[in-house]
Amino acid sequence: MADDPSATGTCSVQIPARIHAVGPGWQAEAERTGEFCGAPGSIRTRDDRLGVWRKAVCGTCHSAWSRIAS
Ligand SMILES: [Zn+2]
Repeated sequence: MADDPSATGTCSVQIPARIHAVGPGWQAEAERTGEFCGAPGSIRTRDDRLGVWRKAVCGTCHSAWSRIAS
């Protein structure tokens, strides 16, 4: 009977849903210097596969990196 409607949600901290979706490690994905040539690039994986090693590469290096055998 003394329920306060404003107390039902005890945690009022609002975390943007996209942070949950992105997860740790991907926040800094934006602009990175390519590890191969130093040109502006972004964090990608070989062949853009999931669950494999990530590197900062530009588009040109990503193409070359995806072709080489590790
Ligand atoms: Zn490059």
